[in-house]
Amino acid sequence: MSALPGMVTPALLKILETPIDLLRQKPLTPAQQYEIYLYVRDAYVHEPSSRGIPGVLTLDSGFPGNTLTLSGGLHSNEPCFTGAMAMALAMVHQGHVLGGRIKLIVNNLEGLEKYWHSYIQTSEPMSERSGHRFVHYNMNRIPYLLGDVADAYWAFRNAYPGQYATVEEAAARDAGVWQALQRLYAFERRMLDENPIPGFEGRMRYETQRLLELMPAYYEDVPQGREQLVIDYHSMSAPGTPMLLSSDSVVTGPKMIFSKVKGCASLLLSNFAQLTAQATGLALYAHIMSKSADTMTVAIECGQHEDMKNTSMPSVLVAAESAYDTMAALGLTLFARANAATRVRIWEAVELLFPPVKDGSYRFTELFPNGRILEEGTVYGTSHNPAHPPMVAHKRMGMIFATTPEKPMPTAESAATLVDVYEGIRNRRGELEVVGLAR
Ligand SMILES: [Zn+2]
Repeated sequence: MSALPGMVTPALLKILETPIDLLRQKPLTPAQQYEIYLYVRDAYVHEPSSRGIPGVLTLDSGFPGNTLTLSGGLHSNEPCFTGAMAMALAMVHQGHVLGGRIKLIVNNLEGLEKYWHSYIQTSEPMSERSGHRFVHYNMNRIPYLLGDVADAYWAFRNAYPGQYATVEEAAARDAGVWQALQRLYAFERRMLDENPIPGFEGRMRYETQRLLELMPAYYEDVPQGREQLVIDYHSMSAPGTPMLLSSDSVVTGPKMIFSKVKGCASLLLSNFAQLTAQATGLALYAHIMSKSADTMTVAIECGQHEDMKNTSMPSVLVAAESAYDTMAALGLTLFARANAATRVRIWEAVELLFPPVKDGSYRFTELFPNGRILEEGTVYGTSHNPAHPPMVAHKRMGMIFATTPEKPMPTAESAATLVDVYEGIRNRRGELEVVGLAR
């Protein structure tokens, strides 16, 4: 497999012909990141397996093997996914991919259009660009009625294996999908009646439209006896240690295929998915993939958004490295994978953290970097209303994803996640062993 479909511009060709070792060392410039985005956005026109879905590109080696799916731009102010996609495209272009399939999915296209316009065309400050995180709602927190459509669509796909259908086509043939879709339409109309959005009268909010469009791409069958790994790429507003978010079985179980991701020191092993599902809903890709025995999903928080001069490694390079390593781990390339035993920090999610009074009066007492350990009794949040109680650690635990103390804690979404912190060792077989509680 070496020919890429569609328009390969001279600027893109320059990236694709960069030696792989250099791609692992030198972060893509913002203009190069944009070039990768444009290619993946538009290649569907020339690529039949993309089924006419913009921002979806499947590259099939034509030989048996596993599938690696790289998903990015679920939050459209987080461009590091372009590093992973550049690595995958360069591997294909340079003839290093020997088997299996690579699937690229760019999620929030409308949000990304606004984001890139701000970043590349008008060079607004980063604070301004963070406003382009989504169009109408956080695409990583789906309305639960959309989850119902996904459940029904999943049942439909299992009843008709190997057949391709859009959600609308499935609804025309299946009562379950049709009913779930009608309920979702009614909900979306109500949302738009309550909060009218110019240009969207009588339609659905953008993220809902896009997730329905992407659903068949998320669900594509994995060949019998093969596996699929989905990596969803994210970055953070503040500098922080890159981390891998996954369920326990993915990183420790017999199907463990992740080895060390360079620059990714910490792992969140956990019931995090269930926790967020209860509170706010979950990413659609994880919701869908959790039903499929041959598919594993992880998310990687690669570091700070757009960080080109991070302490250890820019987020776009962490993403590139993870794609390099995973392609080797899945047997798509013959490159050696990192296999040295490594120490990792394991964060097991215990509780999502919300302020006790949801009036927007609470702030964190300081900036808590990911993994900061709080001793029992530590006050970590206070309200400017003296009648409201402070927020106190009820036992020794860690905190991740805390919002900054400059802004009031959010009330609609969790302000942080409390975690138990363990030390672990990843042995030479790539398995994870817990060696004790972190100090
Ligand atoms: Zn994100």
